[in-house]
Amino acid sequence: MQHVIVFVEHKAGHTRKVTFEMATEARTIADALGGKAHAVALGTGAAAIAEQLKAYPLDTIHVSEDTDVDKFLLDPTVDYMEAVAKSTGSALIIVPNTMLGRDVGGRLMARLDAGFNADVTDMKVEGGRLSITAPKLGGAFITTKAFKNCDFGIVTLRPNAFAAKAGGAGAQVVQIEKPAGKSYAMVVESEVEEASAEMGLEEAPVVVSGGRGLGGPEPFTTMLKPLADALGGTVGATRAAADAGWVPYSLQIGQTGKTVSPQLYIAIGISGAIQHKVGMRTAGTIVAINKDGTVPIGEFADLLVVGDLFKIIPELTKLIEAAKAAHA
Ligand SMILES: Cc1cc2nc3c(=O)[nH]c(=O)nc-3n(C[C@H](O)[C@H](O)[C@H](O)COP(=O)(O)OP(=O)(O)OC[C@H]3O[C@@H](n4cnc5c(N)ncnc54)[C@H](O)[C@@H]3O)c2cc1C
Repeated sequence: MQHVIVFVEHKAGHTRKVTFEMATEARTIADALGGKAHAVALGTGAAAIAEQLKAYPLDTIHVSEDTDVDKFLLDPTVDYMEAVAKSTGSALIIVPNTMLGRDVGGRLMARLDAGFNADVTDMKVEGGRLSITAPKLGGAFITTKAFKNCDFGIVTLRPNAFAAKAGGAGAQVVQIEKPAGKSYAMVVESEVEEASAEMGLEEAPVVVSGGRGLGGPEPFTTMLKPLADALGGTVGATRAAADAGWVPYSLQIGQTGKTVSPQLYIAIGISGAIQHKVGMRTAGTIVAINKDGTVPIGEFADLLVVGDLFKIIPELTKLIEAAKAAHA
């Protein structure tokens, strides 16, 4: 494997953060392998996404606004991806670990006779070979794997596990020719989107997370929620808090929970165990509030505020609300 190809998942030109995380990681891996970093954007809105992707360190962005991609089920997408992969040659193909990404990746695996690794949280090139880290069995085991000798390898990247960093090459945008001789039977007639009232933990710009130090369920609603609301964010938790039944498991962050990458992560009454850290380490700024000045989270937080959370959080929330009111 030499080059890296990113599959860009988007809806009419709107994409998720994982696209930029994949683009950033593609550069790192391509440099280490001595190859080029490519991205492929297909369907209506592909050109708009390509413009956004130019801010990231890719070499080439392959684009087709072919409406067949929107109109038919996944076959046209896989045809285009296969065509780009075959023209680029021996490559690692990165897709997001989403419903669509896994579907595209699985089909490409069959088309290209490629290796496949799902839900990848870390990648390194060691001695010219790619070493892949992926949690298995709900995070109970962390596996390290490598592709056997194959021209193409496919990984699905866990959203928020990699940092997105703009900057770099000013990629060249090229139009892809429509793969010849294809016809498609399965038409998309309509799409139904479910409305969700709560902000998704994985996409929130600010996460205010609570741990065992909160002592019970009430502070999550009476203290953490108001602070999260004041900051335009949402509430998360450690496994200790979820195991205690203080919050639902859907709020758990970490190895066996969700992976988040907000601009700001506030860890309140959380010690910073490795299993929690792997779910939030790529956050932009990490602030920890803990009564213990020697707590492990202090080693990787940008700021450790030492004190009693029950005194600090209400004061902090008041200060933020006052500052917002003053600027309203
Ligand atoms: C296989 C496996 C998977 C796991 N997966 C996950 C996972 O996905 N996510 C996860 O979070 N954990 C996970 N864990 C558990 C993890 O090892 C830790 O036990 C857990 O993260 C600890 O949670 P905590 O920080 O809330 O609690 P603790 O480690 O007990 O820390 C509580 C902190 O609160 C502070 N504190 C107490 N009172 C106050 C106060 N009044 N003011 C300020 N600070 C205060 C204390 O000083 C302490 O640092 C996993 C463990 C295993 C074995």
